[in-house]
Parts: sequence; structure tokens; C-alpha cells
Amino acid sequence: MRDSAPRVVIVGGGFGGLAAAKTLRKADANVVVVDRQNHHLFQPLLYQVATSVLSPGQIASPIRNILRKQRNTTVILGEVTGVDIDQRCVFFDSVDREGVALGYDYLILATGASHSYFGHDEFARFAPGLKSLADAVSIRNHVLRAFEQAEAEEDPKRHRDLLTFVLVGGGPTGVEMAGALAILVRSTLRSEFRRVDPTSARIVLVDMAPRVLGPFAESLSAAARARLEQLGVEVRLGHGVDLIDADGVIAGSERIASKTVIWTAGVAPSPAGKWLKAPTDRAGRVRVQSDLSVPGHPEIFVVGDTASLDQDGRPLAGVAQVAMQQGRYAGRVIDRRIGGKAPPRPFRYFDKGTMAVVGKGFAVLQTGRLHLSGFLAWLAWAAIHLEFLAQSSLRVSVFVQWVWLYLTGQRGSRLIVDYDASSASDGQARRADATRSVPFHDRS
Ligand SMILES: Cc1cc2nc3c(=O)[nH]c(=O)nc-3n(C[C@H](O)[C@H](O)[C@H](O)COP(=O)(O)OP(=O)(O)OC[C@H]3O[C@@H](n4cnc5c(N)ncnc54)[C@H](O)[C@@H]3O)c2cc1C
Repeated sequence: MRDSAPRVVIVGGGFGGLAAAKTLRKADANVVVVDRQNHHLFQPLLYQVATSVLSPGQIASPIRNILRKQRNTTVILGEVTGVDIDQRCVFFDSVDREGVALGYDYLILATGASHSYFGHDEFARFAPGLKSLADAVSIRNHVLRAFEQAEAEEDPKRHRDLLTFVLVGGGPTGVEMAGALAILVRSTLRSEFRRVDPTSARIVLVDMAPRVLGPFAESLSAAARARLEQLGVEVRLGHGVDLIDADGVIAGSERIASKTVIWTAGVAPSPAGKWLKAPTDRAGRVRVQSDLSVPGHPEIFVVGDTASLDQDGRPLAGVAQVAMQQGRYAGRVIDRRIGGKAPPRPFRYFDKGTMAVVGKGFAVLQTGRLHLSGFLAWLAWAAIHLEFLAQSSLRVSVFVQWVWLYLTGQRGSRLIVDYDASSASDGQARRADATRSVPFHDRS
């Protein structure tokens, strides 16, 4: 690649950023992908890591490995902290340096979203969200440790709190987590404990909306709810969560005692809007034009969860397909501009449909007028998720793992691993009653 070729900086190697980088593979440009993680993460399967179905390495791949064949592309591990739109450079913190400046001719911001606690950041301490591999492993540790704690607990009255799992948020992530937890406790763990009965674990899904899976058709929401209830999940709708503390949650003025609360309710965009001082929507997503550029800055593009664009009068959803199609589009605009070609037509999202899985062998699928629930939808869900994993090695490994789980009920990764030794008790204080004897009877 010519050193004098224009430099395209892409911040974020998620769905949007990676799609943009791949589209630019043959462009006469120096492409630089900067991400604070060294891996591209397939977020739709995070809940399977959190519930021990898959291991972290099965849903993520190093970004530099994915892009290794692109001679015009460099990958940098660094956290972007700001953009100077006048000087045309981004600033990032690398492994050992802060505020490193990186100039650009074109910039694509694809920095995604993080959790939103809707103004209640104090909930974060007691109700972790699910966004990164670290979150998923931490939730997995917490869930598995709750069973270990209950098995070692001689006071049966405490078993109930320890084995009550509350999920806040009835969107796809909450529904998928609840279904997967139900299968974990009712099949995989059921015969492995002596003092507690894992099948008696309580799984409660709370949402202030009147139905689960709000964006889906009502019939599919109802099917998902019925399936959850069949799996033993308590679905509590119409009440927001007023409080979350170390003892559980208060929802609709009722306290639900629990030692494991998981937040699956809201997302907030990255601070890209602040970096650019650009207009944003109410959620803080950067308002982009129909070619995905920022008003007044034809050289800056924002794509994916951190961009806001209306189509047919409605904002596009924060889903992987939107991010990928926008990433590809922004890459194409830049490629054509560099090549002196006419710009493509304005961006238009092609909706291929939405789906959510509810436990084993059951999913809901909505595409155009087709509304499907049950096993067929689950097969479609499985095939599509396999297809979109970043590398063939992951596809093979996840496929084998799913078949094994389906046939035997055995999960791939049930290890409690504390990467940080200080979190070994998940922040829960040990009670000072270690001198009490612990009679190990079979629960029967
Ligand atoms: C648990 C979960 C389940 C989901 N399930 C589905 C599903 O089933 N179907 C679906 O369509 N969508 C699903 N989504 C949504 C989907 O994952 C997102 O819409 C999609 O990832 C958005 O792509 P993106 O490129 O905008 O952001 P991301 O894919 O999140 O990528 C953002 C990238 O930017 C990097 N980054 C962020 N800030 C910085 C910074 N300051 N400096 C450097 N790098 C930075 C991050 O490390 C990350 O790699 C799910 C999301 C979650 C969290």
C-alpha cells in the first residue's frame, strides 16, 4: 500500500467496524482498526457463556487474526478517548501510553453501546449487565457459586434466597438468559447436588412493559411467555424495579429476596457524540445523515449502536444486522470517494427479520409477514447464528457443542474462574460462622 494513500481510521472492531474494514480490503487506502479489546465479540451468544453452554473462546476471535489477509489493514489495541475534528485525529490510550494521536483522512466510529441503568447507576453494583466476555464470565461465576454456596449452607431457609435468580428486562437478552438458566437448573445441574435441589431454583423475569419481547408481534410475545412459564420461569410484567440492593429487588412494592440479580434492561451509546460535539438523539446516539456521515463532516461516519438514523419515520434498532449493513455502506462510500466514483444511493436498511431463543429447541422468528415459533424457528435461529460467527473454526466448535448439549444436556464450560483473585467471593462477605458444623446429608 502506498504510504501516501488516504488513511481510514475505524474505531471499533465489532459488527459495524469489522464490516467496514472488510469492505475496504481492496481500497487504495491505509486502513487502521482501533479497538480497546483484542477480539471481535459475537454478542448474541454471550448469554450462552453466562449460562455455561459455551466457553469465551467459542464466541470471540482476535481482530488481527480475522483481518490477517488484508494487506492494507493495521490493527491497534487501544482505547479511544477523544477526537479532534479540526486537526483530524483521534486520541487513544495504548497498552503503555496515554493520549496517542492518530491522524485520519476518513473516520468511521463504530463504538457500540454499554449498559444503561436509566439514571440508577447505583444498581450496577448489585445487578451486573451482560455486554462483554468479562461480564458473561462474571455472571457465570456468580450463578455457579450460588449453587456451591447453597450446597454448603446448613440453614435451609437461606437456600431459597441463594437459589433465586432475578432478571431485570424482558427483551431478547432477558428472555434468552431466563430460558437458558431454566434449562441449566432443571437438566444439567439436577443430579449433581445432595443438599439442595437445583430444580427448585426460582427464576424471576421482571419488566415494566406489559409483555416480553416488546418489538415482536403480540402472538410471538405470548408464545415466548408461555414457553418461559412452561420452563418454570416466573414472568412478572407491568412493574418497574424500584430498588436493587444486596438482598434482592423491590418490584411493584414487593421484595423478591435474591443474591443474584442480572440487568438485561437497557443500553446507552458510547460517548462518540461527545467526542464529536455532534447532534444526538435523546439516548445520546449521533444523528447521522442518509449517507451515515455526520452533518458538516463528510469525512466522518458513525455506524451501528452508536448512530441514530430514522427509516420510514422510525429509528433503526440497535441490532447486529443494522450495524453490519451500515459498516459495509460506510466502507463503500469511502472506497468510491477514494476511487473518484459517484456515491452510492442513500443508506437503506434491509430487515431480514428478528429472532429470540427460549430454552432448548424453541425460538420465535419474525420476518416480514412470517411469524413462527417452536422447533423450526429454533433450527433457523441455530443456522443463522452459526453462519454469522466470525470464523469457520468457531462455527465447527459451536455446532459440535450444541449437538452435544442437545443430546446429553452437558454444558461446555462450567468452571468458576476468578481471573481477579480479589473477586473470589464475588464481593459477598463471608459470614463469621465457619465454626458451625456442616452436616453433609443427602437432601432426600
Ligand atoms: C447480550 C446481547 C445480546 C444481543 N443479541 C442480539 C441478537 O440476538 N441479534 C442482534 O441482531 N443483535 C443482538 N445484540 C445487539 C448487537 O450485538 C449490537 O447491535 C451490535 O453488536 C452493534 O454493533 P456495533 O458495531 O455498533 O457495536 P459492537 O459490536 O458492540 O462493537 C463495538 C466495538 O467498539 C469497541 N469500542 C467501544 N468503545 C471503544 C473505544 N473508546 N475505543 C476503542 N474501541 C472501542 C468495543 O470494544 C467493540 O469491539 C445483542 C447485544 C447484547 C449485548
